[in-house]
Amino acid sequence: EPLLVVRGLAKEYGPRRRRTTALESVDLELHPGETLGLVGESGSGKSTLARALVGAHAPSAGSVRFDGQPLLGNRARREIQMVFQDPYASLNPRLTVGRIIAEPLIAHRIGDRAQRRARVAELLEQVGLEASAADRSPREFSGGQRQRIGIARALAPQPRVLVCDEPVSALDVSIQAQVIDLLARLQRELGLAVLFIAHDLAVVRQVSHRIAVLHQGRIVESGPADRVVTAP
Ligand code: ADP
Ligand code: ADP
Repeated sequence: EPLLVVRGLAKEYGPRRRRTTALESVDLELHPGETLGLVGESGSGKSTLARALVGAHAPSAGSVRFDGQPLLGNRARREIQMVFQDPYASLNPRLTVGRIIAEPLIAHRIGDRAQRRARVAELLEQVGLEASAADRSPREFSGGQRQRIGIARALAPQPRVLVCDEPVSALDVSIQAQVIDLLARLQRELGLAVLFIAHDLAVVRQVSHRIAVLHQGRIVESGPADRVVTAP
């Protein structure tokens, strides 16, 4: 039983005269406990697909189903969480790290204050940060550490699906492997289904069971990670 089923997904941006087709009849399935890699060059539609999967925009055509249901409502929003590309832009510098990580818990009214604090402490440990990080500003952290904070936030409401949109592209190459290892470990330990998006096939190969290649809004190749060959 796949957790996420994408059928005939299309997305167009802009008014009729300046229409951009970002996605065209995309079919995709994501199974529990698997990492699906999605590669494609810049502009191929990766972020548009990621946003459709977390319900951030309505597709122009087609459907996304989560656990057999249309992608609507709070359950899917809680169970499908996203890790963003840029940990500098995606963490509000005016909030404490604890408040940032607690955000999805507050949004979905999960737990009381004490339970949220305990969950934040547990998440910081899971991503390899000290408990004292909770009271500090994200400004005090490096790019790799900030991405750990973003991962902790995504994991907070115990999602079953993690959509990682270029999660290491903004990081120093020397830090990338650490964050990739962390995501791979969490995927295994928590049995997550992960959509791992990147423009670099070598990066995607390290973590993915299956790979799909996106080119000009279409899936042009897909299969087991060791058999997909096309670098777009
Ligand atoms: P990728 O993540 O692979 O770089 P995107 O999904 O960001 O690709 O973009 C796919 C296409 O859609 C590109 O042609 C891009 O210019 C266009 N696009 C993306 N977002 C918007 C938007 N908000 N408005 C108009 N066009 C957009
Ligand atoms: P309050 O603490 O009064 O509830 P805040 O807006 O400061 O209000 O924080 C909202 C929630 O974010 C807290 O209830 C808590 O769950 C979480 N939070 C905020 N700061 C921290 C922190 N330093 N450590 C752990 N959790 C935090």
